Amino acid sequence: MSEKYDVVVIGAGPAGYVCAIRAAQLGLKAACIDPWVDPKGKAKLGGTCLNVGCIPSKALLDSSHKFHMAMDEFKVHGIELENLAINVAEMQSRKEKVVKQMNTGIAGLFKANGVTSILGTGKVLAGKKVEVTAPDGTVSILDADHVVIATGSRPIEIPPAPLHEDVIVDSTGALDFKSVPKRLGVIGAGVIGLELGSVWGRLGAEVVILEAQDRFLALADQEIAKDAAKIFKKQKLDIRLGARVVGTKLKSGNKEVEVQYLDQDGVEQTITFDKLIVAVGRRPYTENLFAPDAGINLDERGFIFVDDQCRTDIAGVYAVGDVVRGPMLAHKGSEEGIMVAELIAGKHAHVNYDLIPNIIYTFPEIAWAGKTEEEVKATGEEYKVGTFPFVAIGRAVAANDSDGMVKIIADQATDRVLGVHVIGSVAAELVQQGVIAMEFQASAEDLALTVFGHPTYGEAMHEAALAVDGRAIHMPNRKRR
Ligand code: FAD
Ligand code: AMP
Repeated sequence: MSEKYDVVVIGAGPAGYVCAIRAAQLGLKAACIDPWVDPKGKAKLGGTCLNVGCIPSKALLDSSHKFHMAMDEFKVHGIELENLAINVAEMQSRKEKVVKQMNTGIAGLFKANGVTSILGTGKVLAGKKVEVTAPDGTVSILDADHVVIATGSRPIEIPPAPLHEDVIVDSTGALDFKSVPKRLGVIGAGVIGLELGSVWGRLGAEVVILEAQDRFLALADQEIAKDAAKIFKKQKLDIRLGARVVGTKLKSGNKEVEVQYLDQDGVEQTITFDKLIVAVGRRPYTENLFAPDAGINLDERGFIFVDDQCRTDIAGVYAVGDVVRGPMLAHKGSEEGIMVAELIAGKHAHVNYDLIPNIIYTFPEIAWAGKTEEEVKATGEEYKVGTFPFVAIGRAVAANDSDGMVKIIADQATDRVLGVHVIGSVAAELVQQGVIAMEFQASAEDLALTVFGHPTYGEAMHEAALAVDGRAIHMPNRKRR
């Protein structure tokens, strides 16, 4: 007889494992299936985010940032260092330890909450049954009242740049370089391309990023994007816009790669790198996931089709995270996982898709939530804007961290905050203040009336809120529009 669960979750990434934990907390008998293992065959729970995404990339961003600070920045503070060097093997081994610590943490949480962790690959059968193939090939069937698909995404590969060993790599390969490449090419100036380009650039690589679009950070507020482009230029990140890669050729016994791209005028250019990272986006992962009669439908872009509450076309079968529409972000998937667990337990739940923060962990960081100025303008509604630069913030100047600004957009008539945009050293943390404010439907006046500690980076949030009505204190107020 097959085992029966209230909830079977397929995939233990941030969408799936969070869903399984919440379901168990709500008293449901929950299992979570995932095939990811370490070289010893032990489960590596946490999906892309923990194994080859958010966490290892942040570990390398933090290590490389510290190196860059020691190399170029400490002298400003009177700290003198000699014979500074980066030990890439040590840096990589620290990254692995960070990942392992978090893998173990999720295993512990599963145990503490009573989630059954199943090593294997799941397949959705008709009638809410899930077939599990274990690493040794053994097949079993689970019976479920509810199935949650959380199989995530994979890097997109493009025909002009097929992956080749450790020379043409995707993001996973780029997290594992054994030494700093001298000349590094990156295809795609999206979040992943910028973050990985920054890691290796800070450690000494000459980085060229080729981006097909003419507009830099097309989804971000363009005032912030312009500021970011200027700062990255100062950092010697060579970002070439309107550069569409059309071919690659391995050379010098496969030790280097020549890239052909069409520039903004459509003229073919070639450039040679020691390593090339393909960072052109990710696609939903649904290979071999459904039996032909499972009845789950995909949308036109290959994502599992779901409604606002992550229900598929089959009652009792849900899908969450990167495998469904919406931004491919860990926190978006986790919120969906929680929502689905609550719905299964008979509670009311929703995700506020209008307020999912976007963060790029470059230095400075770029973070935003709510609407960009371009989006607000397009609605035709009257609006007002307040900006405030970190160069006028005592804490930022004291830390020698004064690049960037906070920008707040508010409705002209109601004063309600519509968007918060930050470029600055702690933008990821600061934008969260804006998310909370918008979640509570705050006005710019509410933020202006809030007492902010001094000296803090957060004072830029306060001053930007004051600037919305032309009353910032530590900056002359100019009329913006
Ligand atoms: P995943 O994390 O992809 O997990 C899916 C899981 O399902 C995997 O463990 C997989 O083994 C398993 N699986 C697949 N098929 C099956 C099957 N048939 N049976 C059983 N299990 C299966 N997002 C952020 O929010 N912040 C960041 O800073 C950030 N940085 C990133 C950096 C990089 C380099 C990359 C690549 C991504 C980054 N992301 C970041 C994106 C983030 O990793 C994803 O949005 C997130 O992991 C999606 O979560 P998920 O649970 O939907 O899927
Ligand atoms: P993201 O989806 O945010 O990870 O960003 C991926 C980026 O890669 C997008 O900005 C695309 O425009 C870019 N891109 C996709 N294909 C190519 C290509 N052939 N050459 C250069 N850039 C590309």
